[in-house]
Amino acid sequence: MFNLILFGPPGSGKGTQSEKLMARYGLKHLSTGDLLRHEISRQTALGLEAKNFMDKGQLVPDEVVIGMISSALDENPQAKGFLFDGFPRTSAQAEALDRLLDLKKASIGVMLALDVSEEELVKRLVKRGETSGRSDDNNEQVIRARIIEYRSKTAMVADYYQQFEKVVMVKGEGTIDEIFDALCAEIDKRI
Ligand code: AMP
Repeated sequence: MFNLILFGPPGSGKGTQSEKLMARYGLKHLSTGDLLRHEISRQTALGLEAKNFMDKGQLVPDEVVIGMISSALDENPQAKGFLFDGFPRTSAQAEALDRLLDLKKASIGVMLALDVSEEELVKRLVKRGETSGRSDDNNEQVIRARIIEYRSKTAMVADYYQQFEKVVMVKGEGTIDEIFDALCAEIDKRI
């Protein structure tokens, strides 16, 4: 089993690259943002609770997303590996993920961290807001709040994996294919 974390701030291209990576490597894509938006569209209690945080650009409580990931792991016993996108976003989530994978005698192979300047992030997110239909993309104040959440709570997750020498930085600017090729080169060294 090969498990990969695609890491980076909002707007760094995790969703776009995840689609391409899962097609190439046959990994099961687990995006907590997508799972939460699915809960919102079904108007579940979990979705309604999460929406309050998401609309403000804040992180949803750890226990909510950890529970969702735990269920998703259990629901996919045949997966040849998982591609985690937008998770873990706090140190507590990273520690919980290690424990959950441990139970399945698995671990994280590598964290690929997309590096994109803040100016470029805001530009991309404002542009995405014109078409994505995501309420957290079409308000610059919410976009900035998400980047602040990233800096204060999420960036340090890379340090957690760095202690196990599992982090590789990849330039997240350039064409989609250039970035994809750089990601694939790193995965191919390890798979
Ligand atoms: P994303 O689609 O990854 O940009 O996530 C959209 C929003 O969902 C974030 O701004 C958070 O409010 C919430 N979210 C997604 N993943 C997580 C996570 N791992 N932990 C906490 N909140 C999350």
